[in-house]
Amino acid sequence: MTLDWADIEARGARGIGISEGEALALTGLSDPEDLAALLRTAGAVRQAHKGNYVNTCGITNAKSGRCPEKCSFCSQSAHFETDAPAYAIKDADTIAAEARSAFDMGVREFSIVMSGRAVEREPELAVLEHAFQRIRAETGMQTCASLGLMRRDHLARLQSAGMQSMHHNLETARSFHAEIVATHSYDDEVDTIKAAKSLGMYVCSGGIFGMGETWAQRVELAMDLRELDVDSVPVNFLNARPGTPLQGRKELNPTDCLKIIALLRLVMPTKDVIVCGGRELNLEDEQRNMFHAGANGVMLGNYLTTAGQTVALDHALMAEQGMVIRPPPHQPLPRSVPPGVRGEGTDLGALADKPAALASPAK
Ligand code: SF4
Repeated sequence: MTLDWADIEARGARGIGISEGEALALTGLSDPEDLAALLRTAGAVRQAHKGNYVNTCGITNAKSGRCPEKCSFCSQSAHFETDAPAYAIKDADTIAAEARSAFDMGVREFSIVMSGRAVEREPELAVLEHAFQRIRAETGMQTCASLGLMRRDHLARLQSAGMQSMHHNLETARSFHAEIVATHSYDDEVDTIKAAKSLGMYVCSGGIFGMGETWAQRVELAMDLRELDVDSVPVNFLNARPGTPLQGRKELNPTDCLKIIALLRLVMPTKDVIVCGGRELNLEDEQRNMFHAGANGVMLGNYLTTAGQTVALDHALMAEQGMVIRPPPHQPLPRSVPPGVRGEGTDLGALADKPAALASPAK
C-alpha cells in the first residue's frame, strides 16, 4: 500500500486516525526519506491537536514487590528472583510529600502505583483516599493511580476522594498477552479499563514494546486502544530486568521506537501519547525527536524499579525543542504557544538544576 502523507495529515488534523492497513504499511517503512515523511506527518498531527504542550507525569512506587501475579517483564513479581525492593504501602503523608516534590520539579500529573493483583483491602483504600485528598488540596495536580485489576465500586470510591485518572496498561497485543502474563487475562485488563471509562475517568493505557511482539501485534495493540477510546497512551520500551524471564532482551533500536510513537499518534490523533519507561535505554539520542514523532508527554524522574535520566536533562530537552509544560488538565488549556515561548508559571530555567530523585525505585 502506498501511503499518501498529505491525506493522512489532513485526516489526522480532523481527528481521523489511519486505517489498520495504513498502520501495517507504516510499520514496514525503512527508507530514510519515508521515515522522514512519517515523522513529519506524525509531528504535524501532534502539533494540530496538542500544540507545543508537554504533559508531564511522575509516579511514586507506593507499594513494591511481593506481587502474586506473573508478568514476565516485571521485577516485582514474587515468582522471580530479582533485586526489586519489597515494602508495604507508604502512608498518605509520605505520598503527599512526594507529590509536592514532584510538582516542584515540573510534574503536573502524579500517579500512585502499587504492586499486586488489585487494591481491595480497606486499610490500603483508606490510605489512597487520604493521599488523593491531600494531593488535590495541596498541589492541584491531576491525580492518577495504577492499582491493578480494580473493581468499579472501589474506583468510584477513590474517584470521590479525588482520583481523576486511572492507569492500567494492556501490556501488549491480545494475541501475545498470554506469552507475557500468566496469571490474568487480556480480558481482565480490558474489564478494568471499561470500569474506569464507565465512571468518566481519564484512562491512561498502553503497553511495553520490545518484549518479542511483532510489528503486526504492535498495530493490533494500537487498534484495540483506539477501540477502547483510552484518553492517554503510555509508551514503555522494555528495559529488561535481571532475574525476570525477559532478562537480556533488547530488541528495539531508536528508529523502531520513533516508528512506534508515530504509529500511535497517527492511529489516535487526538489522544495523549506519553513516553515513559525505557526511553533513555532504547531511544538514546533520538529522545530529542520523540515530540517530532508525535509524543506530547513524558514521564519525569524515576520509573518503578529503574532510574530515569535527570529532570534537568528533560527540562533542557523540552526547552531545546520549543516545548512547554502543560498545566494540569483540570485547568483551561491556553492556546498553543509558538516554539521557544515558556509555559505559564513554569520557569524551565529554574527547574533545570533540580535533582532527578522523584520517586522511589520502581518497575
Ligand atoms: S506488572 Fe503489576 S501485576 Fe504484574 S507482576 Fe508486576 S506488579 Fe504484579
